[in-house]
Amino acid sequence: MYWTGSCGGCDVSFLELGAALLDVLSKVEIVFWPALVDAKRADVEALPAGAIDVALINGTLRTEENREMAELLREKSKLIVAYGACAHLGGIPGLANLSQREEILAAVFGDGFRPTPPPGGSPEDAPPELLAEALPLSAAVRVDYVVPGCPPPPGLISRAFDALLGELPPTGHVFAPEKALCEECPRTKEERRLTQVVRPHEVLPDPEKCLLDQGMICLGPVTRGGCDAACPKAGMPCTGCLGPTPNAGDQGLAMLSALASLVRAGEEGEAAFASEDKVLDAIVDPVGTFHKYALPATWRVPSPLRGGGSGRGGRP
Ligand code: SF4
Ligand code: SF4
Repeated sequence: MYWTGSCGGCDVSFLELGAALLDVLSKVEIVFWPALVDAKRADVEALPAGAIDVALINGTLRTEENREMAELLREKSKLIVAYGACAHLGGIPGLANLSQREEILAAVFGDGFRPTPPPGGSPEDAPPELLAEALPLSAAVRVDYVVPGCPPPPGLISRAFDALLGELPPTGHVFAPEKALCEECPRTKEERRLTQVVRPHEVLPDPEKCLLDQGMICLGPVTRGGCDAACPKAGMPCTGCLGPTPNAGDQGLAMLSALASLVRAGEEGEAAFASEDKVLDAIVDPVGTFHKYALPATWRVPSPLRGGGSGRGGRP
């Protein structure tokens, strides 16, 4: 188990299994899990190729060290699982791809910052270089399976462990249903006609009706199910963490397309454009709304345009 550019939530998510986690742990030997076991990178380097049965990797690839560790674990592991939305799609940290690396460093550390060793340290003690852009795991190494979610919900974690400890599905399998979240959401859907867009903090939603019908941008129609509609049940629209259904393809574009057909201001044709635009203008953060998790996996900008160039700091 390893995290790269991660918030740590994916590591904690295993606790959601409760007592079932003890059963899983009784069947495996953990050779490397920095959050739990005192094993170092050198211990992994000393292992023969393929010595690890399964490596679950969570987090976005954001630094050179992240990429090196992903490559090391790929060499030492028979199977690699992209665990969580960051490893699967780039995740929320991938929204940083809207800014260039140098802009990010300047905003956080001040103009002209470069990673350097601490006083008296050797060059190897310097913090790792940021890659030119945040990347999903599959941009650096071959990924065998995906457990999606931010973090993955317990039902899907169980499903993945059952398969990994039993009968393996075909390579490339995503441990989540292919059907859209709307299929498992208990909220009632009606004839949808959006005349306004609202944000979750602006309304107290009707507890029974579809949130999209009530003007919230809910990505349920284009997102895989598997979480038992936890967010919509609690009155929060789906933000798409389980990734697109196979039919949706580009999750953000699919939702935009669906939305465009739902917005109706009363009039027809060109007369309606201005008022329909006004409805859509209420979406204050379009990229964060439609590509909250999948920006790095969906939109790749050539690295020279991102100030990355090739080699160190460039994209893999
Ligand atoms: S997928 Fe979500 S919970 Fe997991 S590391 Fe990324 S942000 Fe954290
Ligand atoms: S609330 Fe969201 S997930 Fe539920 S039916 Fe409506 S659009 Fe689909």
